[in-house]
Amino acid sequence: MKLFYDLHIHSCLSPCGSDEMTPNNIVNMAYLKGLNIISVTDHNTGKNCDVISRLGKKNGILVIPGMEIQTKEEVHILCYFPHLDALNAFEVELDQYRIQIPNRPEKFGNQWIMDEDDIKVEDYPLALILSVNIGLDQLNVLVEKYGGVIVPAHVNKSSNSMLSNLGFIPETLDLKYVEVFMSAPVPKSILDSYDILKNSDAHSLGQISEPENSMELKEKTINAVIDFLKRRGTL
Ligand SMILES: [Zn+2]
Ligand SMILES: [Zn+2]
Repeated sequence: MKLFYDLHIHSCLSPCGSDEMTPNNIVNMAYLKGLNIISVTDHNTGKNCDVISRLGKKNGILVIPGMEIQTKEEVHILCYFPHLDALNAFEVELDQYRIQIPNRPEKFGNQWIMDEDDIKVEDYPLALILSVNIGLDQLNVLVEKYGGVIVPAHVNKSSNSMLSNLGFIPETLDLKYVEVFMSAPVPKSILDSYDILKNSDAHSLGQISEPENSMELKEKTINAVIDFLKRRGTL
């Protein structure tokens, strides 16, 4: 079946995400847009994924547990997991790599962990705008340990991307998919070598994708999406 997706959306937990990006607003907007599958990938944490998954279920939208990690190379990597327990266990391990600097909301933005009624339950204490002190290869191994898959974010963007920061895409990562930034040209070498994921990287409600990017899946399940994104050799 053909399913419309947007697998890179920021909630109000991301410091750069608008305060209007509450769980209900995101799910309702995805519903209005006619999306079938979404992922909320906040910077370096997945602490709004549980509530968004529950709201998605009520509205017939499949929510993939995910986050967008900024590695120590300052490269952004989307990480997707087969279930919430895997995401949560991954995050517990990730905690040991965090730089222990508190967030300054007035400078960097709010970091709100929300409940199902869009009430703030907690301010995430550490600054999520910073890199996590974990390298790309190490991150790849850790995500794999929890059955997940990585997709480099906006590879052709002029900052925080593999091409801008490394100048190349490491073959050791054995990637199938890369995400491209739709407002910049995509090098032909990328198009020739990888399958392409197109997401909104929405930081405000209106930016969430129209139903224009789709994937062909046998069933509408998280596992089917993860398998779709995994490297060719392991399928
Ligand atoms: Zn990013
Ligand atoms: Zn992003």
